[in-house]
Amino acid sequence: MSRKPRGSRGGGPAKSKAGGSKSSNLTGRPLKVRVRNAKGRSVSSTRWLQRQLNDPYVAEAQRRGYRARSAFKLAQLDDKLRLIKRRARVVDLGAAPGGWSQVAVERAGPEGRVVGVDLQAIEPLPGAVFLQADMLDPKAAELIDAALDGPADLVLSDMAAPGTGHAQTDHLRTVALAEAALALAEAVLAEGGGFVAKVLQGGAEAKLLARLKQSFARVRHVKPPASRAESAELYVVATGFRGPPPAAAADPAAREGPSDSSE
Ligand code: SAM
Repeated sequence: MSRKPRGSRGGGPAKSKAGGSKSSNLTGRPLKVRVRNAKGRSVSSTRWLQRQLNDPYVAEAQRRGYRARSAFKLAQLDDKLRLIKRRARVVDLGAAPGGWSQVAVERAGPEGRVVGVDLQAIEPLPGAVFLQADMLDPKAAELIDAALDGPADLVLSDMAAPGTGHAQTDHLRTVALAEAALALAEAVLAEGGGFVAKVLQGGAEAKLLARLKQSFARVRHVKPPASRAESAELYVVATGFRGPPPAAAADPAAREGPSDSSE
């Protein structure tokens, strides 16, 4: 995959000369492609298909050879916050089909190391090592540690449990995955390292935030433009890892809290 220079990292669909997006559905104009209901296709499948066909990130992902439109979410987070340094060791949790890992490999460069983990098998990607493991299984940390071959600079988690249709259940399951990702991050990150995890808007995240504030110098919430507005997803981004928290410092309220901002 070709590497793009920093500064023109391209975390989004191409712009027209006039500066607007080439695709109309980012501008609020009506969708271009209308999909008719077909026999045997459910209304929700028709809606999904219509959304895919009109999504500029889907088209741009295909053009650039990204395995998933979600690659742009990480690219945009990194464009904004410069999380992926050259030569970085990056862990990508919930990596299938590999879009985030592609971005991490591009940006960490040939001397970087990317270890992707997922419940599902992932098609090989030059520059990345993929492990098939369940992050809710405590044994996964050992496998990742061995594959990393040194402390990590960045732990990413785009893990999402399959949606149940019940918002509170989905939220709690996503927080549980983010907590598992944080436990891994606390075990493998080098001091000064960073952490990104998907969460869903809707409360019940206080424990995770308290732990993040204890372990990192700065914690913020970011919703990258490629994350669909109608989706409750957003990302917690924590930077400046302080080192593994001593078991005794279990009371986060005892520490001075750093900033927690939404962007
Ligand atoms: N970031 C990926 C990309 O750009 O290609 C997309 C990730 S997808 C939204 C979420 C992934 O989380 C799924 O592939 C799912 O299998 C994975 N996942 C969910 N629970 C997991 C768990 N307990 N352990 C490992 N992976 C998990």
